[in-house]
Amino acid sequence: MASNPHMLDTPIEFLKGVGPQRAEVLQKELHVFRYRDLLELYPFRYIDKTRFHKIAELQADLADVQIVGKIIRIKEEGVGRKKRIKAIFQDDTNSMDLVWFKGISWVRKTLKVGEDIVVFGKPTLYNSTFSISHPEIETLESHKKSLVTAMQGVYPSTEKLGVRSLHSKGISKLIHELLEQVASYIPETLSIEIRKEYKLISKREALVNVHFPQSEALLAQAHRRLKFEEFFFMQLAMLKLKQHKKETYLSYPFSKVGTHFNTFYKEQLPFELTGAQKRVLKEIRLDVATGKQMNRLVQGDVGSGKTIVALMAMLIAKDNGFQACLMAPTEILASQHFQGLKDMVEAVGMKMALLTGSTKVARRREIHAALESGELDILVGTHALLEDKVQYKNLGLAVIDEQHRFGVSQRSKMWKKNSKPPHVLVMTATPIPRTLAMAVYGDLDISLIDELPPGRKPITTFHKTDKHRLSMFHFLKQEIEKGRQIYIVYPLIEDSKTLDYKDLMDGYDSISRHFPKPQFQVSVVHGRMKAEDKEAEMARFVKGETHIMVATTVIEVGVNVPNASVMVIESAERFGLSQLHQLRGRVGRGSEQSFCVLMSGHKLSADAKTRLKTMVQTQNGFEIADVDLKLRGPGDIMGTRQSGLVNLKLADLTKDSKILQYARQIASELLDKDPEIVCVENRPILKEYMRAHHIKMQWSTIS
Ligand code: ADP
Ligand code: MG
Repeated sequence: MASNPHMLDTPIEFLKGVGPQRAEVLQKELHVFRYRDLLELYPFRYIDKTRFHKIAELQADLADVQIVGKIIRIKEEGVGRKKRIKAIFQDDTNSMDLVWFKGISWVRKTLKVGEDIVVFGKPTLYNSTFSISHPEIETLESHKKSLVTAMQGVYPSTEKLGVRSLHSKGISKLIHELLEQVASYIPETLSIEIRKEYKLISKREALVNVHFPQSEALLAQAHRRLKFEEFFFMQLAMLKLKQHKKETYLSYPFSKVGTHFNTFYKEQLPFELTGAQKRVLKEIRLDVATGKQMNRLVQGDVGSGKTIVALMAMLIAKDNGFQACLMAPTEILASQHFQGLKDMVEAVGMKMALLTGSTKVARRREIHAALESGELDILVGTHALLEDKVQYKNLGLAVIDEQHRFGVSQRSKMWKKNSKPPHVLVMTATPIPRTLAMAVYGDLDISLIDELPPGRKPITTFHKTDKHRLSMFHFLKQEIEKGRQIYIVYPLIEDSKTLDYKDLMDGYDSISRHFPKPQFQVSVVHGRMKAEDKEAEMARFVKGETHIMVATTVIEVGVNVPNASVMVIESAERFGLSQLHQLRGRVGRGSEQSFCVLMSGHKLSADAKTRLKTMVQTQNGFEIADVDLKLRGPGDIMGTRQSGLVNLKLADLTKDSKILQYARQIASELLDKDPEIVCVENRPILKEYMRAHHIKMQWSTIS
């Protein structure tokens, strides 16, 4: 078979029936530049051309239907801009209306009374009569002729494409033309072994059948084959990247566990580690000892105790003569890490400093100097750690907390702080569904802390509408009387800062009125305050001097005040699930029964209802992450869309997770047997990999 890969790279302009003008809209509207792009423009659904409805069986909630019948009368109604054409359309069961508001003179010319036609469109019910506006119409005769396949693909189109007659049907015609021309040149991209073992049809059959399915069964097979392929090459690239890093990036072998770690473990550790913490720590220890760079993601639910694991990894760095850093996404979180770890670190004779955007110049200089001389062992901070001026004597381990706030490019900046890259430990704020983790972090090793420290009481969660506010305040007073502290959180949405600020301040006023001084003390923290004022207010709350902390989501991540046992979230319907889960995770850290109150308006969208219901029903971060993925789709989660890593056309990370899992497994087995993909039988895979890799070269430069 002739297999010329360049054929598919022909600019779309040269396809018969396209030309420069259509090429331009195809490029602009659908990103179709070459033959290949058009082949990969898959139908998003299919119309069954053999299935006809009868008018008598129509229902109000049907999608598009196809009906055979005759027009028995044509009327024009209205005048001027309200003019329209109405045709009475009849089959052997009943009659209905077809209506046109636009293109009236054309419709008038084409409609013929008495001819057998096929009408296609979405029926709506009005005054107990069904009607379809702007239906697609075809004579029964031409419908029969054009019936290439039973299922007709529906393609995305836009108004601009429509102007060039590239509605769904126009696009379908182009693809038909294209397939006639290139079908025999479509190269196979998988090996015979893989296709045999997983019963995958050939690439060519798959492409033909995804566009013009011969049967439902073949369409299903085409989908399976194409989805598999997308996942397979995506995972192959991830695994190659991981392999490449392992081969290329030597790091410092941390060969021993020494006095700092041991002293800490024996004398300082305030509690027994959970089984999961011990296991993850061991995974880290084995990984840093190899001499290859560690690139590890630690996944764990809110409150599962990731910080202490990070600290102990940093102690291992010190035991091997290296410095470590811990980077957090916000100042508050960075300073809380610093406060929380300082005593323990100093108790084992090490030095630690805090560096954030608001560190004073003089102090900054001191820190820079102490880092370069090696006097400092651990540096905790925010993005400020990434600045060029921050130079270490010998950075051996970089810990990045709450990963989703940092881009991948920031991860890679960390690397350049040394001649050899440091080991990298990334910690997520909330769990990510397994499939998404595979997709987004496929180049990292993953450790899972799947166990909470003992003695945690479940947090009781309520959902209340705004009219219950007074009884909610009453409840808060009772909790304060018991000695508890309370968070009240307002949303912060980037585009409407002013509005949110007003909401927050109104809320603060109302709370101050209901909780008057001196009996009650109320703190407030929001984005417009100076960093030092924020810190001061936070500090008052941490020390227990104030009862209520009114805040925007600045407190979302990581803050730890064990005595705070009630979390009230205002306008909870405006928060995403992972954010709600994060916020709730701020309570339930002490020994007292904790509560989370989700306040919302009365009218809620279906998604908002699902989010709030999920929060009330479960506290398991992994379950919540799954619901989140289903609601939002992978694109919005963790900025995966921007990262460009999830570039899937057909496969769906949520629905096709099984295919993803075996695609990853097969890719991994392939690389085990044939690491450089040089075996003759894997030649098709290598060719496709090289082709795709050329486009996605940047993959090897990230992180
Ligand atoms: P996260 O995983 O959300 O970052 P943290 O590291 O902040 O969680 O830990 C949450 C709380 O649990 C902290 O107060 C920490 O001291 C405590 N903690 C961590 N591990 C244990 C443990 N094994 N036993 C008891 N408490 C623990
Ligand atoms: Mg944390």
